[in-house]
Amino acid sequence: MTTTEKPNMIEFRDVHKYYGDYHALRGINATIKAGEFFSLLGPSGCGKTTLLRTIAGFEDISSGAVLIDDKKMDDVPANKRPTNMVFQSYAIFPHLTVEENVGFGLRRDPRSKDEKAKAVAEALEMVGLKGYGKRAAHALSGGQRQRVALARALILKPKVLLLDEPLSALDKKIREQMQVELIKLQREVGITFVLVTHDQEEALVMSDRIAVMFEGQIAQLADPETLYRRPNSRKVANFIGTMNFLPAEVLSEGAGGIEVEAQGFGRMTLSTDQVMAGEAGQGAVVGFRPETLTILYDSQTATDREVMGTIEEVVYFGDMTYYDVKLDGTTEALRISMRNVFGRPVLEIATRARVAWSPGALVMFR
Ligand code: ATP
Repeated sequence: MTTTEKPNMIEFRDVHKYYGDYHALRGINATIKAGEFFSLLGPSGCGKTTLLRTIAGFEDISSGAVLIDDKKMDDVPANKRPTNMVFQSYAIFPHLTVEENVGFGLRRDPRSKDEKAKAVAEALEMVGLKGYGKRAAHALSGGQRQRVALARALILKPKVLLLDEPLSALDKKIREQMQVELIKLQREVGITFVLVTHDQEEALVMSDRIAVMFEGQIAQLADPETLYRRPNSRKVANFIGTMNFLPAEVLSEGAGGIEVEAQGFGRMTLSTDQVMAGEAGQGAVVGFRPETLTILYDSQTATDREVMGTIEEVVYFGDMTYYDVKLDGTTEALRISMRNVFGRPVLEIATRARVAWSPGALVMFR
């Protein structure tokens, strides 16, 4: 099933939220599909946690509606909703064992002791903590505690699992490992996951679709590749990864595309789907991601277009090198990222370079 064919799990209908005079959510309209891994991404204070909490029922909305499984949630209290939340601060009980923590949510469950123990064991196996049941929770690492919190949420078999920056307290290596494990887990259990994160890489890696939020509104809602390749505004482009911009001008528009002149690149034809609305007063620009340009070595030739430039800065990362290159005819250096190849030297500052580019990789904001 493709995403569009899946039934809706969560629907926001013109959701507004005021804290006193402060307008925290400003007309949210979106649907999250059943079984989807969905992320709310945005800078601090954009309203993503507030929006997540309206799903859980921890936050009343000022107007509009939140529906789960096609039912309006207006009068449904948090503990009656088919949702469960995993927090950044793991919120586990340090004085209990791992299995006591995981079984906590089942304390009023009518099942027999043996059945509950089986459910706990299954949940622990799901999160990769098989055999850890008797351990004291306080003796676990950060990553293990987060798994306990996950197991405790999953054992209740919610339709929707809400994750509020669940990995942000972990260090980089463990966070990356947990990202992959969370994706696998989500595919396995098939539950709808809604993740809040301010980390754009995390959102790109994990999500089927992402809602990018600024100032209480969704700026763009799309799959990771579309967000990255076709951001609908400069703001989204800058928030997701790095984008270089060059001043540009529309020369003519016709059925065959849009004729554009851009600083450094010269004339080109862009298709209409490459052209997005710009912001008022900013002037038209073309934008490109750092990896879409390539510095050519001696015998290499460009498959499409070629332009000369001068390398002004070199930042070596081991697997990658970032070059800041001033293309001839431009005023500012642009970031180009190159994968390092064994046996090929990293280029030095002040080197003249031939740069390959392609109009197809550009987007225009006008
Ligand atoms: P962060 O990543 O920093 O948590 P966020 O995008 O999740 O940011 P929210 O926590 O949703 O942002 O907050 C959105 C805005 O609403 C912020 O400006 C915040 O200060 C404000 N806000 C949140 N909760 C309350 C509250 N209980 N009372 C008043 N203002 C609040």
